[in-house]
Amino acid sequence: MLSIKNLHASIGDKEILKGINLEVKAGEIHAIMGPNGAGKSTLASIIAGNETYEVTEGEISLEGEDLSDLAPEERAHKGVFLSFQYPVEIPGVSVTNFIRTAINETRKANGKEEMPANEMLKVIREKSELLEIDRKFLSRSLNEGFSGGEKKRNEIFQMAMLEPKLAILDETDSGLDIDALRIVANGVNKLKSDKNAIVVITHYQRLLDYIVPDFVHVLLNGKIVKSGDASLALELEERGYDWIKQEQEA
Ligand code: ADP
Ligand code: MG
Ligand code: MG
Repeated sequence: MLSIKNLHASIGDKEILKGINLEVKAGEIHAIMGPNGAGKSTLASIIAGNETYEVTEGEISLEGEDLSDLAPEERAHKGVFLSFQYPVEIPGVSVTNFIRTAINETRKANGKEEMPANEMLKVIREKSELLEIDRKFLSRSLNEGFSGGEKKRNEIFQMAMLEPKLAILDETDSGLDIDALRIVANGVNKLKSDKNAIVVITHYQRLLDYIVPDFVHVLLNGKIVKSGDASLALELEERGYDWIKQEQEA
């Protein structure tokens, strides 16, 4: 699904990513962990096409197609979803109307007709029931006065509706409370299928009590320095990152 080879990226003359290699297959959940400032959010932004960063070397492809020359919207239309893509508050535009527009834009970009209104309603009903999102929430203005948990709910709802091929969830540094963690975890577990791939970026091992990743990668100073299975996350929880730094220096 996602293939990253020798990815280097900079901002100004500061190199942030220093040769990332990552292969994510359909049906897999990968967790990327690492200390603050390692480059986790930068990696997520670059996959989604954020043009703030300059890719100086390497390549990123989705289902074999090189993404390099594609703008963020084009990547989204091809099925790349990054959480917090739409963090803006839009008074007067409801959660439902926003997603309706996003879905139809995606369909249009892929040469399909708009989704008929009755089908849209049906899908909205199904997905909101699956994720236990109540009606009232769906009619609220996008992100306006949303709590942390509500932002997560919206994000997971967007993901459920858009059915991305590749979902990247960057949990950022803002403290997620236990409810928000559960919302994300439930969403991910319910939406996981053999047709999509999910990359969860987190430094909370706690989240991985609810989402069991197939692979865990440690990102340190712009490089993936260690990969393992879910047990690696537990080891990191127990031992921190210093032992990995020492392994690197040795
Ligand atoms: P993480 O998500 O792992 O905490 P980030 O990807 O946010 O790390 O940041 C990695 C490094 O790149 C940090 O040193 C950060 O200061 C720097 N960085 C990221 N984005 C920018 C930016 N837009 N401008 C300047 N420096 C940046
Ligand atoms: Mg950070
Ligand atoms: Mg970050």
